[in-house]
Amino acid sequence: VVPEKPAAESKDVKPFGIAISHPDRVIDPDGDVTKGQLADYYAAMADPILRWMGGRPVSLVRCPQGRGRKCFFQKHDAGSFGEHVGHVAIREKDGSSEDYLVVEDGAGLLACVQMGTIEFHGWGAPASDVEKPDRLVFDLDPDEGLDFEAVVSAARHLHDLLGEMGLATFPMLTGGKGVHVIAPLTPKAEWPAVKDFARRFAAALAEDDPDRFTAALAKTQRKGRIFIDYLRNQRGATAVMPYSARARAGTPVAVPVTWQELREMDGAARWHVGDAKELAKRAGSKALARWGVADQTLPDL
Ligand code: ATP
Ligand code: MN
Ligand code: MN
Repeated sequence: VVPEKPAAESKDVKPFGIAISHPDRVIDPDGDVTKGQLADYYAAMADPILRWMGGRPVSLVRCPQGRGRKCFFQKHDAGSFGEHVGHVAIREKDGSSEDYLVVEDGAGLLACVQMGTIEFHGWGAPASDVEKPDRLVFDLDPDEGLDFEAVVSAARHLHDLLGEMGLATFPMLTGGKGVHVIAPLTPKAEWPAVKDFARRFAAALAEDDPDRFTAALAKTQRKGRIFIDYLRNQRGATAVMPYSARARAGTPVAVPVTWQELREMDGAARWHVGDAKELAKRAGSKALARWGVADQTLPDL
């Protein structure tokens, strides 16, 4: 008896009902990662991803031919992502209004992946009120050659200082070179106040310890130091979202960790899209269930 051939549909990749074309296309030659594997990763991680990213204006790093070819950072969209991806109209600096993307569910997430998205970056405010940030983020960017230990101790230093001011913070490995130190905020203050706080905090840090930190954007100021990139805290700026994949060699992912765990990390690209199972389990664990959760507002500085 000749065994029946599997039905053609069984080969289709259709997470959350979204048909993924070219699932065998290699999108990262370094990690041998295919578009289908990336879709599987995002499908497995949809819940923890949406917990933070859902309902937020997002920008995407799209690499339709894979990360070895042309990638672009997409902020606006007029509807090319289909019915599952939402939009929010946001006033631009010049007074015009542009539609930003908003992902609310697994179908929306996968619709973006189908369109060649590798990375998801989010605003620091919900689409329901884009003028009131719901998080503060300090993006620690180490100079080339600095070892990760320096980044870890810098992050812990920020944690201590912000903690003394009454702000609980949470660390995230970016999947790249650095760490993001994130303070969730109950939306209240508007962007100018949040940016001002972040700028003054970063400047004070650099002033107190100029050998270790700089708050100046210029790369020449970075020599052997860590740049405290406070500019993620201005209207329109984005930061990579928790559990987003990165369009970098090996397709690492941005991963929330505990302060305890951070001590043991030796790099920011510890996990990759192949680790979905472990990451989903971690995300649901007791240690991480309250990651990013705190009811707090901006202190005086
Ligand atoms: P790393 O740890 O390697 O620094 P990162 O995500 O912090 O990783 P950065 O280069 O520090 O990377 O970028 C900070 C943020 O700037 C990104 O998370 C992203 O949201 C935003 N960004 C990146 N590329 C662009 C771009 N082309 N246009 C606008 N914003 C961007
Ligand atoms: Mn960074
Ligand atoms: Mn940066």
